[in-house]
Amino acid sequence: MPNMNDTLEIAQTVDPKLHALRSKLQHEQLDAWLMTDLANIRWTTGFSGSNAVLLLTKESAWLFTDGRYAEQVKAEVKNAIPVITQDGFLEELKTGKYPLGTRVGFQADKLPFATVEKLRKELPDIELVPKTGVYDDLIVVKTFEELEKIKAAVAITDKVFQKLLEILSPNITEREVAAEISYWNKRFGAERDAFEPIVASGPRAALPHARASEKFIQNNSLVVIDMGCVVEGYCSDQTRTVAVGKISTAMRQAYETVLEAHLLGIREARVGMMAKELDGVVRNFLAARGYGEAFSHALGHSVGLQVHEVPTIGRKTDMRLPAGCVITIEPGIYIPNEFGVRIEDMVYLTEAGAQPLPSAPKHLIEL
Ligand code: ZN
Ligand code: ZN
Repeated sequence: MPNMNDTLEIAQTVDPKLHALRSKLQHEQLDAWLMTDLANIRWTTGFSGSNAVLLLTKESAWLFTDGRYAEQVKAEVKNAIPVITQDGFLEELKTGKYPLGTRVGFQADKLPFATVEKLRKELPDIELVPKTGVYDDLIVVKTFEELEKIKAAVAITDKVFQKLLEILSPNITEREVAAEISYWNKRFGAERDAFEPIVASGPRAALPHARASEKFIQNNSLVVIDMGCVVEGYCSDQTRTVAVGKISTAMRQAYETVLEAHLLGIREARVGMMAKELDGVVRNFLAARGYGEAFSHALGHSVGLQVHEVPTIGRKTDMRLPAGCVITIEPGIYIPNEFGVRIEDMVYLTEAGAQPLPSAPKHLIEL
């Protein structure tokens, strides 16, 4: 009968996620990875606690966390050895129990500079090699299980939107609408909001990331509602713009143009195309319609365990869109001090094209 360590190593060699990270070790000529991004660690091991560091060598893997998660880590993690630390992972590494080798890659954008300095001082024989984007090409492609969780989150967001149509009026404040979103997210089974809901009416809708304010929904205006929830760690992210009262011709025209731009983005998305190419198609369309200046952000982004993942679908993104990615298509028109419109769907990209995940209506809803 093999001992436990042998069994664990056998299990690890067939784990596709650890295998992919080990191939990167080889490619980068490193002896170990020190991973500190919680979402990346969750993707790799399934661990959902708020304190974790993953050490991955060519032969083994350890997950460092603290006593609060002693039971949870055992239940969630099957492909790494859980280590409960008293004084943090650095003290644990100093014990010399772990075969770090000589070159250890770390997530340069996810490890504080002060900690890097400390590691360099305490482990002088190790060369710490800063790396960014280690996970980018891995997390962008969703598995069937991941897609199911994303779809469940999107389905809740669709239901929440229907609830909002019953309450949107000049008699409710933006912040009350945001509270309803958070409430219904949980009532429909989500763990939490994916981000603080954006509810913006009147001229405030021209601010793409406006927080819900204490102002009442403005009558005769467009209301931008951007919201999402989390199911088993996976996010939804969706925007609809609704008219409350009578809106101007300029608002109506902007809405119809954003809708056209949004549908164009879905139609033109192709596996293998550069993210910036897709952004460009929609950006050029809006510019041709005279809204070049009014579209002030990127067309979209990948979504998964984090609401904003790589790649950004933006003007400068050289990454190609792979089959199996889930991205948002969210063009907008923002006229400062007047109004704003945005329509955002998450889409699943396959060789057959982009398939929108939400079912909430996109025609102009006038309340
Ligand atoms: Zn959004
Ligand atoms: Zn988004």
